[in-house]
Amino acid sequence: MSATFPPLRAELQGLEPYGAPQLDVPVQLNVNENPYGPSPECVADIAASVAEAASTLNRYPDREFTELRTALAAYLSQDTLPTTGRGITPEQVWAANGSNEVMLQLLQAYAGPGRTALSFAPTYSMYPEYARDTNTDWVVGHREEDFTLDLEHARALIDEHRPAVVLLPSPNNPTGTSLPHEAISVLCRAVGDGLLVVDEAYGEFRRGGVPSALELLPEHRNLVVTRTMSKAFALAGARLGYLAADPAVCDGIRVVRLPYHLSAVTQAVALAALRHQEELLGRVDELRVERDATVEWLREQGLEVADSDANFVLYGVFGDRHAVWQGLLDRSVLVREVGPDGWLRVSIGTPDEMKSFRLALEEVLRPT
Ligand code: PMP
Repeated sequence: MSATFPPLRAELQGLEPYGAPQLDVPVQLNVNENPYGPSPECVADIAASVAEAASTLNRYPDREFTELRTALAAYLSQDTLPTTGRGITPEQVWAANGSNEVMLQLLQAYAGPGRTALSFAPTYSMYPEYARDTNTDWVVGHREEDFTLDLEHARALIDEHRPAVVLLPSPNNPTGTSLPHEAISVLCRAVGDGLLVVDEAYGEFRRGGVPSALELLPEHRNLVVTRTMSKAFALAGARLGYLAADPAVCDGIRVVRLPYHLSAVTQAVALAALRHQEELLGRVDELRVERDATVEWLREQGLEVADSDANFVLYGVFGDRHAVWQGLLDRSVLVREVGPDGWLRVSIGTPDEMKSFRLALEEVLRPT
C-alpha cells in the first residue's frame, strides 16, 4: 500500500482543506457574511418559489437557467445603462454555485496545463487553489504598501508570463482596495489574448463615486466581471455566483460545466431574492455607513486601517496579531487572522455587533 491511502495526487498530499474556522461564537465577523437575514416577506417568497420548484424535482432543471440569466442581466444593467448607455444581455451572463465555482470554471475552460494564471498579493486565498486544481501554473506579484496595484510591475509581470487568466478582485479581499478604471483598461490591453477577471464579489459595497468594471465591458472583449449573491444579497447559503462577459466567454464555459449544475431549487431561490433586491440592497447602504464609521473609529484608536470599498476592514499593525485575535475571541468576537503579517480583518456586522467588537478591542488594546 502507498504511504497515503487512497493515493492522493502528489501535489495535494499533506494539504489542509481551505476554510475559516466555523466556531459557534455570539459575534461572528470573520467570513464577510451579510449580518441581516431577509425580511419575512422575502423569506415567504423564497419558500413559495421553492415549493413550486419542488413539484418539478423529478425533472432536471433548465440547463440554460434562462429566466435567471435574464433577471441577472437586468440587475447588472442598472449599473451599466446610466454610464455606458448599454445594458447587459442574458447571453453575456453565466452563473454557478457561488462565484468560486464560476472562477474555477473559467480556469477549467481558459487555463489548465501549460497555461498560467496570475494575481497580486495580498489577495483572495482561493485563487492559487483554482490554479492548483486545474493544473494551471500560478504566478503571484505584489501590491504597493497601501495595497494598490503598481501598474508598471503588473504590466512587466504580465509581459513576462503571458498569463491566460489574470484574477483581480475589486474591491480586493482582504484589503478592501478598489481598482480604478484606468488600471483595468491598461491591464486588459497588456493581457491581450488572455482574460482579465475582475472579481466584484463585494462590488455593491463600493463607496460613492467608485466605478464598477462592468462599465468597461463594451471596450474590452477580454474583460470578465464576476459577482455573487453571497454578500450584497445576503444569500451565502444559497450558493449563487455569476459573471458578465463577451457571450463567447460563456460559450467556452458551457464546454466544461457539469450538466444541470444549477439546481432548480437554487434557480428558484435566486430569482425570488432578485425580486426583493430593493429591500436587500437597502441593507447594503446601512452596512456601508457602518463600514465607514468602523474605519474612522479604528483610526481614532491610532491603528493603521486600509481604505475599504467592501463589507470588511483590514486593520493593524499588531506585533502579535494572534494574541489580539485570541483576545477578541475570548470576548466572544470572532474576526479573521488573514492578510499581511500583523493585520486583522473584521467583517461589518449589525450596529450591536460592531459595538461588541469595539468594546472587545478596547479591552484587548488597553487592559485595565
Ligand atoms: N471572491 C472573493 C474576493 C471572495 O472574498 C469570495 C468569498 N469570500 C468569493 C469570491 C466567493 O464567494 P462565493 O463563492 O460565495 O460567491
